[in-house]
Amino acid sequence: MLNFSLPEAPCLATLRALAARRILILDGAMGTMIQTLNMTEEDFTGNGHVHGPGCRHHPTDHPQKGNNDLLVLTQPKAVEDIQFRFAMAGADILETNTFSSTTIAQADYGLEAAVRDLNVAGAQVARRAADRAQAEDGRPRFVAGAVGPTNRTASISPDVNDPGYRAVTFDDLRIAYGEQIDGLVEGGADLILIETIFDTLNAKAAIFAAFESFARAGRRLPLMISGTITDASGRTLSGQTPTAFWHSVAHAHPFTVGLNCALGAAAMRPHMAEIAAVATCLTCAYPNAGLPNAFGAYDETPEQTAAQVAGFAREGIVNVVGGCCGTTPDHIRAIAEAVAPLAPRKLPA
Ligand SMILES: [Zn+2]
Repeated sequence: MLNFSLPEAPCLATLRALAARRILILDGAMGTMIQTLNMTEEDFTGNGHVHGPGCRHHPTDHPQKGNNDLLVLTQPKAVEDIQFRFAMAGADILETNTFSSTTIAQADYGLEAAVRDLNVAGAQVARRAADRAQAEDGRPRFVAGAVGPTNRTASISPDVNDPGYRAVTFDDLRIAYGEQIDGLVEGGADLILIETIFDTLNAKAAIFAAFESFARAGRRLPLMISGTITDASGRTLSGQTPTAFWHSVAHAHPFTVGLNCALGAAAMRPHMAEIAAVATCLTCAYPNAGLPNAFGAYDETPEQTAAQVAGFAREGIVNVVGGCCGTTPDHIRAIAEAVAPLAPRKLPA
C-alpha cells in the first residue's frame, strides 16, 4: 500500500497552477550533450580522484569513461552549465544527471558505494542551475530527480534457455531505488521522474521505493512516470500497450504519465495519443531528436522536432513536453516557442 497521508511537497500546488495555464517544458538530453564535450578518462575521474574531494569511497580499478553520472562529483560545473543552458532555453523542469545512479547500474563501474553521494550531488548541481536561471529571469525552475530503469529487468529472463531465471528481483530493485531516491530527496529534488521504463515491474519497484523514501522524509514529492515504446507493435519491452501501462501505474497518482526516448516524435505520436485518452493525470512527452543515424547520432533539427511536438499540443494530448536523446538547448528553445501559444491538454471528464 502506498501512503498518501503524507503532506504533499509545496511545489506541487505551484506546478499544478502553472500547468493549468500553459504547457510546461522539460529539459533535453544530458547524455548526448556530455558526448559533445569529448571528455577523457582523466576528465571523468577528475584526474584520478575518482570520488571527488572529501571522498570516503573505496577505490575502483574500473575505467570510468562513459560513466556520465560520475560527472556530478568530478565535473559538476560542466553538468550545471548544460542544465543552466536548458533552463535559459525555456525549460521549467530540469532533470538531475542521475539516470544510472543506483547500486545496480553503478556495479558496472565498481562505484556502488558512491550512489548516495551521486544522488545528493546530482540534485544539488541541478538545483544550482535552477537557482541561477531563476535569478536571471525570475521564472521558477523545478528539479526532477531522474531515476532510470537500471540495466536489468525483473519480468524477463536474460537467458533464453532458462525462462524462469531473473537477473534482479523486485526487492533488489526496491532497495536500490530507495537508496537513490533518499539521496535525491536529501539533495533537494522537487519531483521524482521515473523514466525510460521498458519493464513495468521495475517501475513498480521504483514507485514503491519512492513512497517508502517519502515516508522517511515526511513529505510526498510529485512523481513523473515515463515509459518507453521499444517495439514496432507499440508496446513496452515487457509487452504492455500504452493503455495497459497507464493502468499499471495509475495507483501511484502521478503528477504526469507519458513516454520518452526510443522513438522520435513522429513515431511516438499515436502512442502518446493513446495514453492521453486514458490518463486521469497530466501527460508528458519527450521524444528523441528523430531516430539515430548509422553513426548513432541524431539528425532532426530543432525546427523539425518542434514542429512535431507542437502537433502533439494542437491535438490536445500533452501537458508537459521536452526532449530525450539528441535534443539540445536549441531543440528545447524551439519546442518552448512552438507550444507557447497552444493550450495544455484538458483532463478527461
Ligand atoms: Zn532518450
